Amino acid sequence: MSKPVIATASLAGCFGCHMSILDIDERILDLIELVEFNKSPVDDIKSFHKICDIGIIEGGCCNSENIHVLKDFRKNCKLLVSLGECAIMGGLPALRNGIPIQECLNEAYLDGLTVEKGNKIIPNDNELPMILDKVYPCHEVVKIDYFLPGCPPNADLIWDALVSIIKGTPMKLAYETIKYD
Ligand code: SF4
Repeated sequence: MSKPVIATASLAGCFGCHMSILDIDERILDLIELVEFNKSPVDDIKSFHKICDIGIIEGGCCNSENIHVLKDFRKNCKLLVSLGECAIMGGLPALRNGIPIQECLNEAYLDGLTVEKGNKIIPNDNELPMILDKVYPCHEVVKIDYFLPGCPPNADLIWDALVSIIKGTPMKLAYETIKYD
């Protein structure tokens, strides 16, 4: 029987959620037995080779490239999982959402204390992805099937949830893995 296929992507995130996937430690060997990885920073495969069963998304959408990648995942994955607060709510990058975009750019590239004198320019190369007016959580861009909270989500939570999705069994997530006080 062929194994379920998993793809992962990091959008506007810090890679902490991907690190938490790797934090399942030696269970990574069990995971390799259970699934096949496709497009993912984990195996450095850059494009989809086939339709995947599960797409795992870290990070929200802060630029046009993030939107493109997320829509590509929706098209190529039967199920999409928002992994972590950035994917679910925008996370830290969304702190800019209450500030006009021009003000953010001015502070980052023109007026900020750390901007080098004589080097003041807002990047405008056509090759750069277009920055969005705000940071969007993934479910505001495409349909998301599962949400796994945390910053980053606990490795045990990721493991238990993934195994349930792969095996098609009801999720029984340990309270300690979804409590944050
Ligand atoms: S949820 Fe936390 S760990 Fe995950 S990408 Fe965002 S900031 Fe990083």
